Amino acid sequence: MRITPLALCFTFAATLAHADESAFHWPHGAGAAVCLTYDDSLASQIDVAYPQLEAAGLKGTFFLQGNGGTMESRVDDWRQIAEAGHELASHSLMHPCRKGLPGRDWVADKYDLDQYNLERLESEMEVTNILLHAIDGQTDRTFAYPCGDTAVSNGTQPFLEFAREFFVASRGVSPELGSMRDFKFSDTPAFSPDTKTFEECVAYLEDCYAKGTVAIFLNHGVGGDYLVTDAKLHEQILEYLAENQDRFWIDTFKNVTLHAKSEFDRLDWPIE
Ligand SMILES: [Zn+2]
Repeated sequence: MRITPLALCFTFAATLAHADESAFHWPHGAGAAVCLTYDDSLASQIDVAYPQLEAAGLKGTFFLQGNGGTMESRVDDWRQIAEAGHELASHSLMHPCRKGLPGRDWVADKYDLDQYNLERLESEMEVTNILLHAIDGQTDRTFAYPCGDTAVSNGTQPFLEFAREFFVASRGVSPELGSMRDFKFSDTPAFSPDTKTFEECVAYLEDCYAKGTVAIFLNHGVGGDYLVTDAKLHEQILEYLAENQDRFWIDTFKNVTLHAKSEFDRLDWPIE
C-alpha cells in the first residue's frame, strides 16, 4: 500500500483525537453508542423484536409498564429476555400521561398525570421497581417517561430531579444532541423509526457517529401492535448495526448511560 501524505495526515489526526484525554470516549474505540429501546410491554416486541435482536447478536432495552397486558400473560417470556442479557427497565406502573395536552383524549381519567402529585408518582415508581425486581432480580433501573411527560400537577411540578435520584438515567424525547457534553441523564433524546425510511435511520446513525454521541431508537410495536416499526425495517437497522460494530457500540440503555456517567465523572462534567 502506498502511503500518501493525505493518509498520513488522517492517521495522525485520528491518533491525536484518540489520545485526547479531555475528550469523551466510547468503549472499544467506537465512534458512537446505540441503544435499541422498546416501550409499553407489547407482545410484538416478544414475538418479533426479541428474536431479531437475538439473530443479530444485539441487546435491547424493554421499558415495561406494570399494567401492560403481557406483564400478566407472558411474564415468563420477559424473564427469559432478561436472562438473555437484555434490559428490563421501568416505563412506570400505570403509564400516566398528561390528559390536558392536545391529542390525549385516550388517557383514562384515573391515569391523568395532571392529577398526580409527586407522592403518588413516587409510590408507583417504587412498586414498578419491586415488580421488575421480581422478574429479573436487578436493582438499579433506567426509566422512560410515559408520553415523554416530565411534570405532574397540571405541569406545575417537574419530576426530572426525582427521576435523577431514582434512576441511572431516564429516556426522554428530546431532540438529537449537538455533542455528548449536552447529554442530560434525566431527559435523553430519542428517535422514532416507525415513520422513517431505512435511509433516514442510517442518516441518523451516521450523524450521531459524526458527532460522537449516542443514537437512541424508540420503538413501540415491531411488525404489529401500534406505532409500528415495520419488521423488515427493524431487521435492516439491526443488520446495519451488526455489520458496523467496529464503529458503533450497541448496548443496553443502562450500560451505555453508566459508561457515559463514568466519562462525565472523569471529565468533571456536570451530570444533569
Ligand atoms: Zn409508553
